[in-house]
Order: sequence, then structure tokens, then C-alpha cells
Amino acid sequence: MEALFAWYERHRRDFPWRHTDDPWAILVSEVMSQQTQIDRVAARYDSFLARFPTPRAMASAPPSDVLAEWSGLGYNRRALNLQAAARVVAESGWPDTSTGLEALPGVGPYTAAAVACFAFGEQVPAIDTNLKRVLSRWIGRPLTGTELSDQAVAMVPAGQAARWNSAVMDLGALICKPVPRCEGCPVSGSCADPTVYVPPPRQAGFDGSLRQTRGAIVRLMLDGRPRTADLVAATVRHEPDRVETALSALVEEGILESVDSGYVVIGAAPAAR
Ligand code: SF4
Repeated sequence: MEALFAWYERHRRDFPWRHTDDPWAILVSEVMSQQTQIDRVAARYDSFLARFPTPRAMASAPPSDVLAEWSGLGYNRRALNLQAAARVVAESGWPDTSTGLEALPGVGPYTAAAVACFAFGEQVPAIDTNLKRVLSRWIGRPLTGTELSDQAVAMVPAGQAARWNSAVMDLGALICKPVPRCEGCPVSGSCADPTVYVPPPRQAGFDGSLRQTRGAIVRLMLDGRPRTADLVAATVRHEPDRVETALSALVEEGILESVDSGYVVIGAAPAAR
């Protein structure tokens, strides 16, 4: 453990959310990082927090403002879930345990554990793909489910969960990658099997995908003007069938709403309709 911590002190990644124990600032960083590359998150994080510095500031904002500030980070549903979580916190205060945090909209076990640990000092492992891969190699076989959780809980050094979580995250991101760089690893002496491979979650291609069409539609609609499906398809220049599917999904997820004159982004001022 000391070798890991010594390596971490020399090589740790420096992110703005590592300089705070504000649960809102940490939750924002974790939700942003869920499906977006960390460099893109770091580039957008400060301006996002400047616009929404507290749960109350986000809770009272029009959803279209939240989507506009989120634009380019992808998976827009995360932004609306974050706003839903902000409303719960603004109304009822912070749950300060991982179990309580998991009840917030859009907050899964990993995000809940990360916020509980980094903001409230709960001594829990934050189990993500990186940690799963690293621990599986340390133990020598692919770990899943309860076995992974039990091993991680047993490894967290007393009183040092935040440091341990950050150190294992950075080891997984910088050294113990899917193809590991064992020659530079501080814990190679206690690693059971570097050949254990835990594949990262697969992400479908972006070009020509429904995700690409959804993103194009949301960016177009952020001006709050209503548009018919035909007008949307003609403007974004994606296949009309894919546009129809994307519009239906965006309405179902509460990102757009259907009005007499077509579709409009959720919460757009009536005057814009
Ligand atoms: S020795 Fe290799 S496989 Fe094992 S933890 Fe280090 S980088 Fe990962």
C-alpha cells in the first residue's frame, strides 16, 4: 500500500474536483465523467460550476439552460437527472451516506460511493471499471459482483478511503490500462496475474448513430423555438426515420416536449413557442 501511495503522490492527476469536499462540486464532476472523457470534463467543469454553483442555483434554472450549459458533453439525460437531484437536495438537504445518495436521480452505486467518500468521508470503495480491472489483476482472476465488492471493501485502508480510491483510479487510468504498462507499476510485486483482462464497457460508434442525431437535435432546439419533425430533419440533415426515432426518445426522456406546432425543448419560455 505504501508503494501505491508513494507513486500516487508523485504521479497523481490534478483535477479541480480534487481540491474540494463540496458534495455538489464532486457530484457534478462524477456525473459529467460517467460517459465523457475526463479531459473534456476538465475543460468544461469550471464554467459549468460557475453557472450552477449550488444545487439551489441549478434547481431553479430552466431545463433548457441546463441543457445549453451541458451541450457537447453528450448523453443529455444526465443533465436533467442532475437537475432532478439538485431539486431533491435543494428541498431536503444532502443525504450523507452512499445508501442515501443512491436514492438521488441518476446516481448509481459508483457515483454515490464517490460522493460519500470524497465529500463526507465514508470509508467505502468507489467501484468503477478501472478499479475492477486493477483488483482483478491483483487477485488473479476476473472479479464481479459481490466478490469484487467484498475484496474492495477489505482492501480499503482504515481512514484512507479517499486517498486509496484516487490512487487506484489513477493507477488504472495511467498504468494498469486494458493493456498494462507493468514495467512502471509500483505494485507489480504483489500483482497475482497481469494477464487478467477485464474489457471496458463497449460504446457503439458515433457517426451515423442515433446518439449523434439526438445530440444534433438537442443543439438545434436549444434556442427554444418549436419545429416540426420535417423541419428538424431538413435542418440537421439526418435520415428522417432516425430523426423521428430520436424525437420520440427525447420526448419520452423529458428532454423535448410535443406542442401544437411540433417539438420544443423542455421548459422553453412560452413566448418562444
Ligand atoms: S503489475 Fe501490471 S497488471 Fe499488475 S497492477 Fe501493475 S500494471 Fe496492473
